[in-house]
Amino acid sequence: MKRIVIVGGVAGGMSAATRLRRLDESAEIIVIEKSGFVSYANCGLPYYVGGVIEEEKSLLLQTPESLHARFRLDVRVRTEVLKIDPVRRSVLLKDLNSGQESELSYDVLVLSPGASPIVPPISGVERALTLRTVEDVARIVDQVSKKPQSAAVIGGGFIGVEIAENLIHRGIKTSMIEASDQVLAPLDPEMASLVAREIRANGVELYLGASAVKIDESTVEISSGEIVAADLVIMAIGVRPDIHLAQDAGLEIGPRKGIKVDEFNLTSDKSIYAIGDVAEKTDSLDGSSTLVPLANIANRHGRIVADHIAGRKIRPVKTIGTAIVKVFDLMIATTGWNEKKLKATSRAYHVIHAHPNSHAGYYPDAKQMTLKLIFDPLTGEILGAQGVGIDGVDKRLDVISTAIRGGIKAQELADLELAYAPPFGSAKDPVNMLGYIAENVISGLVETAQWDQIEDYRAKGYELVDVRTQGEFDRGTIPGAINVPVDEIRERAQEFQGKNLLVTCQVGQRGHTASLLLKSLGFNPVNLDGGYLLWSNSPAAKELVQKK
Ligand SMILES: Cc1cc2nc3c(=O)[nH]c(=O)nc-3n(C[C@H](O)[C@H](O)[C@H](O)COP(=O)(O)OP(=O)(O)OC[C@H]3O[C@@H](n4cnc5c(N)ncnc54)[C@H](O)[C@@H]3O)c2cc1C
Repeated sequence: MKRIVIVGGVAGGMSAATRLRRLDESAEIIVIEKSGFVSYANCGLPYYVGGVIEEEKSLLLQTPESLHARFRLDVRVRTEVLKIDPVRRSVLLKDLNSGQESELSYDVLVLSPGASPIVPPISGVERALTLRTVEDVARIVDQVSKKPQSAAVIGGGFIGVEIAENLIHRGIKTSMIEASDQVLAPLDPEMASLVAREIRANGVELYLGASAVKIDESTVEISSGEIVAADLVIMAIGVRPDIHLAQDAGLEIGPRKGIKVDEFNLTSDKSIYAIGDVAEKTDSLDGSSTLVPLANIANRHGRIVADHIAGRKIRPVKTIGTAIVKVFDLMIATTGWNEKKLKATSRAYHVIHAHPNSHAGYYPDAKQMTLKLIFDPLTGEILGAQGVGIDGVDKRLDVISTAIRGGIKAQELADLELAYAPPFGSAKDPVNMLGYIAENVISGLVETAQWDQIEDYRAKGYELVDVRTQGEFDRGTIPGAINVPVDEIRERAQEFQGKNLLVTCQVGQRGHTASLLLKSLGFNPVNLDGGYLLWSNSPAAKELVQKK
């Protein structure tokens, strides 16, 4: 009988174990888990802190007993794998209750120990709590139940923003300290600004571009010199793959400091697989090694490894890194590469933004969202997308991530027949709209400029023309713009003679109409993508306010 030992009994490990049992009734499957729980919903942990999920037991999806009853798995909790001996094909176990150590041999070993929160070596850091396991969340909930006056969340990534929201739900005065100049690193800055606004609007004191330098008894000192009140401190600055077992065993470690695996998730030792947060993934865009510490790919790779062990044919999975997070009333989703990464690799790309409604504007409760699509300027290959909004962002980003997987080009998003009735969408769905805009850009019908290029165009002598109504213009415009409403362009075109024009409106749509009209009148206009709305929420607008 083949013995398969699995290290880590949550997302990747338990997917592998249960799938394997379904495929092979005869295998001996032993799951070793050092925490007291298996198959728990770590993604739900922040919501237990906030009381949105009321019962701890709701997070516990299975127990060793239920897994034995249904799958005949031998699940050993509070048992840690201390060492792997790849030559003897055995692991050294420690029973964390009794302290006893023992050796367990394996035919196949699957490593899914996940990733550990990064804890920087700053003074007083031992007071900071991290969030990864059920035990971690119990510690945080215990502190929260003592009714702290204030909390500081260090790190503005996915877990940081979720925990900050939940601390606010608990009525705790919460600050967030983020070292970079934006929250949610997978977003580009103009999209992250929308999230920062939401965070602040909900009462979180947000410090950007500042890192925690010292944790005292009830405060955190940050690099700007400011002192932040913090009865409770949560450290959420990111995770790193838990590779120590693999490293000790001499398994090859990849360039991103995760375990290097092949297309079947086999490590450099052909009896050992690695899956989940601990393993490096292959980026679907350029084939490079990447880390994607997310549940979907951990589960998918768990299944693939089980199939491979059972001798089934598998389809290797590359990653595009699709993610979503809730921040108060906003949903924020991303897929593929962002513009920051594309800039860093100097790959050619084109960006478009749109501000469509979640469903038909005339049907109650339609909510405007901001979508960003990034694609190859020549072929239209979709390179990435981001969305921020109150409703419907999840659906659009999922369609786009599916399009990326299927090789559908940006301009072909126009062709997708998406479900529509007024309560659910629009006859021109937001995804179709992105396709229409991409088609216009790729075919050369219109030229567009980005929110951060306005000064460059100005320097080249472009006149900035705001084509919204006088009323909209009076309520706020990009400094230096002149107002010629789109409906007056035909009559007033002579005012533009000899000028290059950068056209702007509220979201880019009237600007597009104006640009085509101006083109037909003999001008060479450039339309400001995303319009005043995108610019006014972007770092460019903030810089201008600061300069004043
Ligand atoms: C608070 C939080 C919120 C999250 N939210 C989301 C979300 O909304 N969406 C999303 O896609 N992803 C989310 N994630 C990430 C997601 O949970 C992980 O990507 C996923 O669980 C990774 O699966 P894994 O099997 O690699 O590791 P894990 O699920 O972390 O499991 C690893 C297990 O291995 C055990 N272990 C480690 N070392 C040993 C050892 N030596 N011996 C025995 N056992 C060991 C650990 O105790 C742990 O229980 C979240 C993570 C956290 C912590």
